[in-house]
Amino acid sequence: MEELETKSLVSILQRALFYESQYRNALVSDAISYYDCNLSKDLIETDIFFKNEEGEFCSSLELVGLTAPCKFSEFLNRWIKKFIHPEYITKYPFLTDVRKELLLSFELGQRDFIIEYWYHSPLGKKLFLNQRYLLTQNESGDICALSIVKNETRSRTEEDKLHREELEQYAFYDPITHGYNYIKFKRELDLFSQEGSIVAIDIHDFKVINSICGISVGDSVISRIWQVITDSLDFKHHDMAGHINADHFIAFINTFDQEEIITKLKSISFALKFISAEMSIPVVLPYFGVSKWIPGKKIELAYSEAIAAKKKAKDQQNINYSFFEEKDNIRLIRDKMILDSFETALANKEFKIWYQPKYNPYNHTLVGAEGLVRWIRNGKIFVSPADFIPLLERNGLIMKFDEYIFRNVCLQQKKWRDAGKQLVPVSINLSRLSLYYENVVSEYKKISEDIGIEKDLLPIEITETAAVTNNEIEDIADKFYKAGFILHMDDFGSGYSSLATLNTMHFDTLKLDKSLIDYIGNFGGERLIEHTILLAKELGIHITAEGVETEQQVRFLRQIGCDSIQGYFYSKPIKPEKFELLLDEIKAEKNLPDYDFLNNHINAFKNSFTRTPLYTFVCNLTENTFYENTGSSNWMTETTIEGNNYEDCVNALAEKNISPGYREAYLDFMDRKKNIESYKNVDITRIFQYKRSYYGEEVIMRMITDTFKVDDSDDIWMYISVTMY
Ligand code: C2E
Ligand code: CA
Ligand code: CA
Repeated sequence: MEELETKSLVSILQRALFYESQYRNALVSDAISYYDCNLSKDLIETDIFFKNEEGEFCSSLELVGLTAPCKFSEFLNRWIKKFIHPEYITKYPFLTDVRKELLLSFELGQRDFIIEYWYHSPLGKKLFLNQRYLLTQNESGDICALSIVKNETRSRTEEDKLHREELEQYAFYDPITHGYNYIKFKRELDLFSQEGSIVAIDIHDFKVINSICGISVGDSVISRIWQVITDSLDFKHHDMAGHINADHFIAFINTFDQEEIITKLKSISFALKFISAEMSIPVVLPYFGVSKWIPGKKIELAYSEAIAAKKKAKDQQNINYSFFEEKDNIRLIRDKMILDSFETALANKEFKIWYQPKYNPYNHTLVGAEGLVRWIRNGKIFVSPADFIPLLERNGLIMKFDEYIFRNVCLQQKKWRDAGKQLVPVSINLSRLSLYYENVVSEYKKISEDIGIEKDLLPIEITETAAVTNNEIEDIADKFYKAGFILHMDDFGSGYSSLATLNTMHFDTLKLDKSLIDYIGNFGGERLIEHTILLAKELGIHITAEGVETEQQVRFLRQIGCDSIQGYFYSKPIKPEKFELLLDEIKAEKNLPDYDFLNNHINAFKNSFTRTPLYTFVCNLTENTFYENTGSSNWMTETTIEGNNYEDCVNALAEKNISPGYREAYLDFMDRKKNIESYKNVDITRIFQYKRSYYGEEVIMRMITDTFKVDDSDDIWMYISVTMY
């Protein structure tokens, strides 16, 4: 029994020893050195070997001038002094007395002790070593250590590298485009250190793309834009690009040559056009601002100059890039001042609306006005709308602002109505950027309805520009039209509007821009205006000429049939109190005929009697019958109407012979009932000129009618005389 027990004990011990040596082998398998030492006795009994970088075994004791047996502490002191960088000795204070530190650890129950350090090998290499002391107690109670040294140089450097790369990825590369970010861009440019141009790029109304299509589509659009930008640059010649954030990009073009730069920018613009169809998104229109950079100049400064130039590009109508000039700095400062005081200005009601009258050039009566904003800053400084409207457009404040002006014009109209004034339509400007807001039509509708002013007293002026595609304008124009608003196309002829688009949209009026009016006096220019008016008229569109300053211009515009005129010739924009006086005059003047008109009328009347009438008729309007027909022909035979019926003849003649453009007016003029009703116990003579076909040819006819009564009869009679011209 005892024997059995001893046997099994031995086998357990043997197994334990076996496992221990396996364990030991495993631990030391990839070590470059290992040794046993007796810490209690401070003793190393046998020589220590280690495998150097060349794979050779060397004696560690020999390297520090010792032979076995020797003191552990002595060996370690020499070793540390010789091979470990002093920095580590300060970093790990226990290196000054490792033996004491190990003994202390054992007492505290710690069996595993690791030190890691950079070791400068005798062959001149730097190795990263991991030194591990496994602490045990031997049969005699001495505390011993197995020291295992491993070379971790490679894994350490790889780890460092990975770590560095990872950090770099975060710090230098953009998560959307995977290209350079601003920091990396700056760093690379500084390293490259050669002069060239910085380009700031952004996309027109990118927010719209984001809000319509969602952020994730927005992100893929950004990465597509990035691709287009980088494809258009020449990286072989050290062009560079970076993604700043959202739709803002920066590029470096390795030249100052403006032509070369413009070519690259144009190729970016061109390629970006295709993205909209490719990804079914609104048009992607870039803006570019370019500044100069030379080594030593802060890149941030060059970039902010490029941004200033880009802002300038946005205010231009025809090109989407601009180069920074020194004077732009002054502009920057002024812009900032304006924006800073904008909110206070709104609160203090510093924005006033002035009214520029529109006149009928034939009888010089007031027919309408345009509401134009005026900003009187701090009660004295006048800021031109041309200066701050573009700023508001860039800052997204314009929609709110336009709405504010619209509301105030509505309120003013309401005030005038309540005061018994005769109202005229007052047009309001709507920035094209406001058109992007979905609810603009419903908002305006609500405001006008809440205040109670009819929409035809509030026409809306929209400028068509290259930046907005026709579809978008068309869509909004359609909505305004359907909501009952009247639309004016503003600034026609200033460069970016075309008659072709007019045709497809519901514009009621075309406003000829001052730049076109200034052509009056120049033969080609006059023909251009003439044709524009003619074409618009054919489309049933009214014409208002803007910026008319001279009598010569008014005379020309009148000759070619322009409907109304707005310009300094008649009046500058004026304060509401002054405009009100003009409204009062309308009433007083209403019944006075225009003298040109009157003279024409009188001459026509006189002429009618110098020619022999073609027909004369006498009708009894009350009875609807003819009393007498004389002349070379008569209506009954011409229209093959049987019997003696006045109305049937008039209707048949209108349909058969009167030229289409005059038919309606003719029927109105001849209307039996209206003629009877308009007779107020005084004989009335009226004159009407029209065109009709006469034996297959269109001729001008002039008709004079005279309504009268005879004796005590209530019947109303009419004398008709028709003369051909
Ligand atoms: P616009 O809509 O073309 O307005 C006509 C501009 O021409 C006005 O300039 C007017 O004072 C000026 N003008 C009129 N007749 C003559 C003339 O005979 N000779 C000359 N030399 N100029 C004449 P203003 O008031 O400085 O307005 C400039 C622009 O600012 C306007 O051009 C319009 O685009 C914008 N604007 C003005 N008020 C508003 C507004 O409330 N909202 C928006 N979005 N834009 C506005
Ligand atoms: Ca306008
Ligand atoms: Ca205009």
